[in-house]
Amino acid sequence: MPGIARAVMDKAGGSLFPTQFSVKVNGYYAIRNGDSVFGHFPGPLMPWHMWASVKAQHRTGVYIEGKATVVAGDFATCGHDVGPGSPNVTAGKPKEGSFVGSVIKWQKGGYF
Ligand SMILES: [Zn+2]
Repeated sequence: MPGIARAVMDKAGGSLFPTQFSVKVNGYYAIRNGDSVFGHFPGPLMPWHMWASVKAQHRTGVYIEGKATVVAGDFATCGHDVGPGSPNVTAGKPKEGSFVGSVIKWQKGGYF
């Protein structure tokens, strides 16, 4: 089960900005659908990595103040995936039949 994404501890290429301040996971604010990603490499020349946001794709059924929580393995609009996620606070099931993650990981290997 994928761990819930947290401010400070988790990233999707760049750091994640929380937009709710009532629920913490492991001491950090939980990240929700639509939260912003701090601009990151390979930006700023590739501007889609400057204005990205994360999308809750796992359909965990877990909502915080009306927005779906983001978990490890969800993707940002720039293509980076969220991780590593909380090691002990999880929601939903792993995505089945997904090959996108491995593609992105390969791309990351190329970048870094
Ligand atoms: Zn990115």
